[in-house]
Amino acid sequence: MDRDSYQGVKEEIKRTADIVQLVGEFVQLRKAGKNFVGLCPFHSEKEPSFTVSRERQMFHCFGCKKGGDIFAFWMAYHQCSFPEALEDLAERYQIPLPQRKMSLREKRMQEMREAILDANRRAVKFFHEVLVGSSEGKEARAYLEKRGIDKEIIEEFKLGFAPPRWDGLANYFTAQKVPHRVAESAGLVIFNKGRYYDRFRDRIIFPIFDLKGRPVGFGGRVLGNAHPKYLNTPETPVFHKGSVLYGLQASYTHMRSVRKALIVEGYMDFLALWKWGIKNAAATLGTALTSAQVRRLKGYVDEIITVFDSDEAGRKAALRGLPIFINEGVDAKAMLLPEGHDPDSFLNSKGMEPFVAMVEEATVLLEFYLNQTLVEANGGLEEKVARIRSLLPCLHEVKDPMLRSAYVRKIAQAVGVKEALLWEELGKLSKGGVSGGEQGERGRPAQCLAKKYNRDMHVLNLLIYHPEVAGELSNSPWDIFVQDESASKLIKILFDKLEQREKFRPEELLEELEDEQARNELSEALMLPSFYDDASAQLAVCEIKRKIDEIRITSSIREARKRGDMEELNALLRQKARLQKGMLH
Ligand SMILES: [Zn+2]
Repeated sequence: MDRDSYQGVKEEIKRTADIVQLVGEFVQLRKAGKNFVGLCPFHSEKEPSFTVSRERQMFHCFGCKKGGDIFAFWMAYHQCSFPEALEDLAERYQIPLPQRKMSLREKRMQEMREAILDANRRAVKFFHEVLVGSSEGKEARAYLEKRGIDKEIIEEFKLGFAPPRWDGLANYFTAQKVPHRVAESAGLVIFNKGRYYDRFRDRIIFPIFDLKGRPVGFGGRVLGNAHPKYLNTPETPVFHKGSVLYGLQASYTHMRSVRKALIVEGYMDFLALWKWGIKNAAATLGTALTSAQVRRLKGYVDEIITVFDSDEAGRKAALRGLPIFINEGVDAKAMLLPEGHDPDSFLNSKGMEPFVAMVEEATVLLEFYLNQTLVEANGGLEEKVARIRSLLPCLHEVKDPMLRSAYVRKIAQAVGVKEALLWEELGKLSKGGVSGGEQGERGRPAQCLAKKYNRDMHVLNLLIYHPEVAGELSNSPWDIFVQDESASKLIKILFDKLEQREKFRPEELLEELEDEQARNELSEALMLPSFYDDASAQLAVCEIKRKIDEIRITSSIREARKRGDMEELNALLRQKARLQKGMLH
């Protein structure tokens, strides 16, 4: 596809799609004035600085400076390339997509990812067929039946079974003409001593899907007592363990409607809940919840409840998640199942009602942490203090002062130390420079906001809201006034565009700019309100021109002094004095 025809598709997608609606599917947005705001999915924050504009059809985060149009959002959120984003969105909005030329590297990357997904799809089919339709799958079928996993669930989640052979899948791939090199990149086979072997053997297979429903990886669980009990696909170009959650592709719409997520530890736990009709859950892949996962979840829910059995390892992993929750500003609760139970066995023996009651009564994670700390530290003051100290950095990150005092009080009471002592420790952290980062400034009057920004942003703001001053500014040597190189390039482009076309809309530039820094700068400038009204815009231009003269004279003075040209120097100094009195203009 040549540039023009893909540009056409891009335009059409933009005409069809609404960025507020699209982003709103992944990030919880609320209206704030003209725009919509939400918690940024790209960095840690508790106060929304992620802003979406319907009018401009773009987003910008004032915290991490990421911004752009729907394509930029899709690429960043799904960690995909532009061609993939174009394909996904074209499909979503049913816009036919002509073939497009890619760079060689782009093409290779995409081909590899496609090939891996294709191998994965075939593997899903292979494992599934072994499970449901072969004698080799008999034992696994019996196991699943015993655990109450019925045919419907096996079908919906495409469960499978890897036969107890070294070359089951490898042979299937040979027959299917899937190159072993690809299967190896997909993590499905292992090359050793000149031969390819199956990675998953004698295991129940749980395909792991992304939100688009593509199989990105696999989890395997042994039937007997072999080790390891669980085995996952290693990191591949399409599988990143820390950012996927098992079952989320099926459960995220349910989460969104109840605004609550249950996090369980494994595939079987997830399926057990699903079987009982509890559909707002997802499972981690045997690791602690990562901030990438929490960020994704907080687009759908206000509260995350971690469910775990009293098994030591699981509990520790859940506790490690505490700072992540505090930092992501998500209400986190913990639900501890009675000794000897996992969600499945609990539901099977006690039924739905007690389980739902436990969900309702889940403990706030911090409290849970404190209770556990006291139990585990077993009265040893030294260990208690060490544990509390490990909590301080994340307490320090709590920006809301009321909330922070409440936490401090609670911890002090729980551990039996003086509140003042904790405050003192927290104070030390502040002096150590662990600052809470920049606070959002939205909603303040524009003048006050304007002071925060450097000259470059002021020039951009003028050009966006008062394009009528562009001619006057572009005729001056403005480039000595602008500080940053990428801003300078951006301003130059804006001048050119404004000169060429009267009705130029600066947001059109977002997709043309190659330089990411310039793009983010522009998206920030577009999201800020106007710093100047019509009258003060003219004054601002005068002030900029005065400043430019001052910079020029100062540098001429320096040169004249170097040359020893006294006459010139005196003339320049007089000029400077006049300029400072405001007489030059
Ligand atoms: Zn951000």
